[in-house]
Amino acid sequence: MPEKLALGVDIGGTNIRLAVVDENGTVVDRSRQEARLSRHDANEPDAAAALVLDVMDRAIRPMLDRHPAVQGIGIGFPGFFDVHQGLLLSSPNIPGLQDFPLDAMLGKRLACPVQAQNDASVAALGEFRFGAGKGAPSLLHLTLGTGVGGGVVLGHQLYTGDGGMAMEIGHMHVAPDDRICGCGARGCLETWASATAVAERFAALSGKSADARDVTQLADEGDQHALTVLHDAGRTLGRAIAEAVKLLDIRRVSISGGLTGAWNHLAPALQQELDAHLIPPLVGKIEVLRSSLADDAGILGGAAMVFD
Ligand SMILES: [Zn+2]
Repeated sequence: MPEKLALGVDIGGTNIRLAVVDENGTVVDRSRQEARLSRHDANEPDAAAALVLDVMDRAIRPMLDRHPAVQGIGIGFPGFFDVHQGLLLSSPNIPGLQDFPLDAMLGKRLACPVQAQNDASVAALGEFRFGAGKGAPSLLHLTLGTGVGGGVVLGHQLYTGDGGMAMEIGHMHVAPDDRICGCGARGCLETWASATAVAERFAALSGKSADARDVTQLADEGDQHALTVLHDAGRTLGRAIAEAVKLLDIRRVSISGGLTGAWNHLAPALQQELDAHLIPPLVGKIEVLRSSLADDAGILGGAAMVFD
């Protein structure tokens, strides 16, 4: 019997990553291309739509030509979706696009079924199906990057909310109010636990500029400011996960993103704060795992959407 193949696509800020994947989650072929969707002409709706379709067509078509057995395309895209109607409701990267029928337009152009969904949700699905979530009925997935993103699979189903905006966990109020967040509020998780926040907090404490990777290395060498900043990031993550678990009773959590390079520093503080804020029957029952898929969660999640 011929194997089933899907094409998973992960749209990032500057890159498009693509992989042809079989049903076991094995990557058969992959490619990565530089592509920017956030050009300034993207403010005008028709130009924005044409730009998105052109960029994606150019990236995807060569993979379809090489693998005619691909049965569908699953796309993780930075934006909010109404999956029932196949609409991209809005995208922070492309302000001109509103209520855009991406699935239908791109599917027609490529003559292949297309499903697009919020990138963090797609990564959560990839992790659930092929990574740290394997075997669990539900998974809470967090990504620590420029901000803190999240996705959730509940009882084997991806949950994205009534309007596609569920799991804005980066904006849960679990941290001290000292800094204003990009969303306009204070005390958001991502003002303490994103890779960006870790670098900025380290600079404020030490007077030295460093990115999250440098901070991790300094912590490994015993630098007190670096250790403090990562400990605080771990604590706020633990607090946010505790609140989410109390709401949803999810027993498995995975975390991905560049900051997980500091796992040895994050995890003890995270676990301690998590247990301190759970109700007794849940204490010790929550597994928090470092992602096992790293950068591949998005492309594998895209493929999982096709197979589901
Ligand atoms: Zn916020």
